[in-house]
Amino acid sequence: MIIDTVCTYCGVGCDISFEIENGRIKKAFAKKEGLVSQGKLCIKGRKGWEYLYSPDRIKKPWIRKSFIEKNIDRFPEKIKRKLNTLTDLDSDFYESDLTLAVEITAWKLQDIKNLYGPHSIAGIGGARTSCESSYLFQKFIRKYIGSPHIDNCARVCHSPSLKGMRATIGEGAATNPFDDIYKAEFIIVIGSNTTEAHPIVANRIFDVVKKGTDIAVIDVRNIKLSRIAKYNCIIPFETNLMVLNMIAQVILEEELYNLDFIRKRTKGFEEYRDKILNDPYADPDFFKTVKGYEYLSDMIRDIAREYATKRSLILWGLGVTEHTDGSKAVMAISDLALLTGNIGKEGAGLMPLRGQNNVQGTCDMGCLPYFDPDYKEPDEIGLMTPDIIDGILEGKIKALYNIGEDIAHIHPNQNKIHRALKELEFLVVHELFPNEITGFADIVFGVKSAYEKEGVYINAERRLHLSQPVVASDLPDDWEILRDIAFELGFDVYYRSSEDVWNEVRKVANERFSGATYRKLKERRLEGIQWPVKKEGTEILHKDRFRTPDGYGYFRYNQWEYRGMVKDLIEGNDFVYLTTGRIGIHYNNAVQTKRCGSLIGKNSEDVLLLSLDDRDRFNNAERVILRSDYGESAPLKVVYSGDIKKGTAFVSFHHPESRINFLFGDESDSYVKTARFKSVKVKVIPVLRSLPEEQVC
Ligand code: SF4
Repeated sequence: MIIDTVCTYCGVGCDISFEIENGRIKKAFAKKEGLVSQGKLCIKGRKGWEYLYSPDRIKKPWIRKSFIEKNIDRFPEKIKRKLNTLTDLDSDFYESDLTLAVEITAWKLQDIKNLYGPHSIAGIGGARTSCESSYLFQKFIRKYIGSPHIDNCARVCHSPSLKGMRATIGEGAATNPFDDIYKAEFIIVIGSNTTEAHPIVANRIFDVVKKGTDIAVIDVRNIKLSRIAKYNCIIPFETNLMVLNMIAQVILEEELYNLDFIRKRTKGFEEYRDKILNDPYADPDFFKTVKGYEYLSDMIRDIAREYATKRSLILWGLGVTEHTDGSKAVMAISDLALLTGNIGKEGAGLMPLRGQNNVQGTCDMGCLPYFDPDYKEPDEIGLMTPDIIDGILEGKIKALYNIGEDIAHIHPNQNKIHRALKELEFLVVHELFPNEITGFADIVFGVKSAYEKEGVYINAERRLHLSQPVVASDLPDDWEILRDIAFELGFDVYYRSSEDVWNEVRKVANERFSGATYRKLKERRLEGIQWPVKKEGTEILHKDRFRTPDGYGYFRYNQWEYRGMVKDLIEGNDFVYLTTGRIGIHYNNAVQTKRCGSLIGKNSEDVLLLSLDDRDRFNNAERVILRSDYGESAPLKVVYSGDIKKGTAFVSFHHPESRINFLFGDESDSYVKTARFKSVKVKVIPVLRSLPEEQVC
């Protein structure tokens, strides 16, 4: 039997098919007619389902023993009577049946609400669950609990894309389908290691380069795409905004802009033009003063000329957003499209490559403190995740409800987060496997994975896919637990199926989803459909008007701030700047991928890349510890690489044992507090013997 569904991992959102034999998965593959996959899957698609059979799955709810002891005298009789049904799991937890875990959770949430008020409870949702669960989660926190404090993991990835794009073009989502890569004449890839993080999109880029399309790759190191780029634009850390403003200055100085488009479709051009032309950091010649990066002056001019005079796309990832000026850099990206008219048509536009398979959907569903579903204004604006953490430490937030988001691993400033989690009176978690956050939880609900349930997932090109169970599971879905707790809290909540929840989404978020019925999504299982969906979907946004209130695109100028590595280079200081990212085989906190035998292989630890030019400086050490102002990593295995420039370093963050996120502090995007994961100054401390010559690459 063959079952078609959607891949559970990255924001590419590939259609995926499973061959099932005797109720077990035999293999995963993609069908040729799959619109996103184009008949190919990356290794995570092909092998990343093996975790389904891991013995580590959380099969029943867990309740912390110390939590029971603390609350036993205050439990209502209904709960007390059932406590003898709890069974020992280990020294920390009991196992419970679902009904009792739901009753205890509802009682404790109500207790905290009575004692401290509804605003003492916050929710953080993840983007690995379906739209139905995300929708119900924000409704649960806002309506059933009465708190505005709801956020999701976009806080640590693409919130700046949402902010920057909404401020300029009114919509925080990709303007075109992935297949428009085939229609572009020139492509800029900035801050995206596409082959590792979005492999099936990278396939399209390789295809078009083979056929003669030119690309510019702007990054802080050599990545695989750099090798096929006409412009391999390696920039100093924290200079995306400066480089984008430089491209704009060249377009303005050489009058390569599209005046007709600017007049008809935009506002704010004159002010933007004057500011860019008078900004010394937007002059490409500035790089002539930055040692080792002088070549950028000419290269940026060439990129600007090609971008402005061709049908061009810009793709970006977390290398743009995870900075203090991430939102501003995204505004600068939009500015370039407005300046040249490279938007609202085939083969030209903007593609933020969003991370998790449903991060677009989770934001669309209103799991954000400042947006209700469909990006409507909420009655009250809540706290963003970093403020929730501060709120816990200040004693204002007493309970946290967390769905599929391991904030005890993948968020920055882990020393602080761990301190905060210990302060909570109540932490509820939904997870597939034990991980860092379950170590702090009072109640852990084991839930269905994406391959075990039905639900809508929205990929990075706004494409909705409807998943269906590939294997049977008697675990609850996230939304079912939330429904049952809400019912226990006294609300009339009678959703019988994920389709019931989705039908409510279609009404509440009707601007984007009114026409996206389950029936339509089932008929187009391998194809999906892009929002907004009325009778049909929408491939390209902004064709005639932007999605701002008055329909115009707005130029937003922001000056780059002199700082960081550029300052150190100009002043002749010694430094090592670290950036982080994914490797293709793992996903995020690796909680699923490390339980796939075919994936874990040689990738059981995070490896630090240091520059070959720094080999002597670090005594050719085989292992080093990294230390920043905020914390220290574990000893990390080192590979010296010619792809890394002197004074820079790269490491992945998949394994909690590496303690990479202990190195980052609270520095974050000035608008939306997305952590500055792409740049931290570190000390490199050699800890073990030197590498033999043949292990240096
Ligand atoms: S590219 Fe992403 S969505 Fe596609 S198979 Fe790989 S992990 Fe899955």
